[in-house]
Amino acid sequence: MSIKQITRNVLLNPGPATTTDTVKFAQVIPDICPREKEFGDLMEYCATEITRFVGDPKDYATVFFGGSGTATVEAILSSVIPENGKILIIDNGAYGKRMCQITSAYKIDTLVFKSSSIEPIDLKNLEDAIRNEEGLTHLAMIHHETTTGLLNDISAIGELCATYKIQFIVDSMSGFAAIPVDMKSMNIDYLAASSNKNIQGMAGIGFAICSKTALEKTKEIAPRTLYLNLYAQYAYFEKTHQTRFTPPVQTFYALKQAILETMEESIEKRYERYSQSWETLLNGLEGLGLKYLIDKEYHSKIITSIIEPDTEKYDFNEMHDFFFEKGFTIYPGKVSNYDTFRISNIGQIDKRDIEAFLSVLETYLGKIDYR
Ligand SMILES: *Cc1c(COP(=O)(O)O)cnc(C)c1O
Repeated sequence: MSIKQITRNVLLNPGPATTTDTVKFAQVIPDICPREKEFGDLMEYCATEITRFVGDPKDYATVFFGGSGTATVEAILSSVIPENGKILIIDNGAYGKRMCQITSAYKIDTLVFKSSSIEPIDLKNLEDAIRNEEGLTHLAMIHHETTTGLLNDISAIGELCATYKIQFIVDSMSGFAAIPVDMKSMNIDYLAASSNKNIQGMAGIGFAICSKTALEKTKEIAPRTLYLNLYAQYAYFEKTHQTRFTPPVQTFYALKQAILETMEESIEKRYERYSQSWETLLNGLEGLGLKYLIDKEYHSKIITSIIEPDTEKYDFNEMHDFFFEKGFTIYPGKVSNYDTFRISNIGQIDKRDIEAFLSVLETYLGKIDYR
């Protein structure tokens, strides 16, 4: 077998992230039918260990879907709200908005709670909204709004959910496996994440980590979707150790390797590494006279929205290409009322990569006569 040398690209987009070569090569395996026991055991291992990152596998279960992260968010939202249920969705960025689009597509009774995309959620206003709305059964929100880098206080909102006895759904796509989560103490019933962000695996698998008690109660809800039905996917896997439909086989082998590497580093240490990269980034930006959107206090330390240089010569696509040639992938902004680009510091990179990025950024800013 010959293995060619793989170029290392530094991905500064918010996932898929830079992976280790061991994760990349874990995908190269003898062909296997996913209904074989070996593969069932592999999925079982991945499910149990993913659960263990955020809860006790006795009380929580991980349900896999082939698809990107959004498929899993859609699976949860379309599957857990009963016909006479009503959900409050917190919208403080593009991903919160996407949740609203999903419940709208399924005609699920939804109350949208709009909140600033750059400032923390006003808990008092939120509590008023919950108290004033009759029949609320669920609340859904984003953990880390990847749109901006704003970290939402899911603990505080989990407490509200417990007080008002509503089920709590969290999209922690860009928080999971870096920012510590404890589903039990945070009162989270369903948590969505995917294989290609902080867990540092390949793209193609989404997962819903579910409270078994909550999930069991969804059994009677008439399915709104076949493929994305959460309970059906869960029950079939419990019974057969298989997925109902063809899973992304090789991606699962990479996911297992990524899980092992996450366990080896530990989530706490991973977040420390990410945080160091982020601090290096912020210091560098300040040195270059660039401003960022989110206050340090409310920042995820995972993605930074940077205000674009205010000069005619600046062009995001040109800047992208300039970086891309040098092995760095940067990302456009997504907040409507601010002109930003984004730099994420997830994946198998560290502060030395950020230092290298900053030095290229300095060269680029010189080219466009910025300051
Ligand atoms: C990445 C991400 C998703 C999922 O995006 P996909 O492109 O479907 O993988 C969902 N929510 C948040 C907060 C994300 O960061």
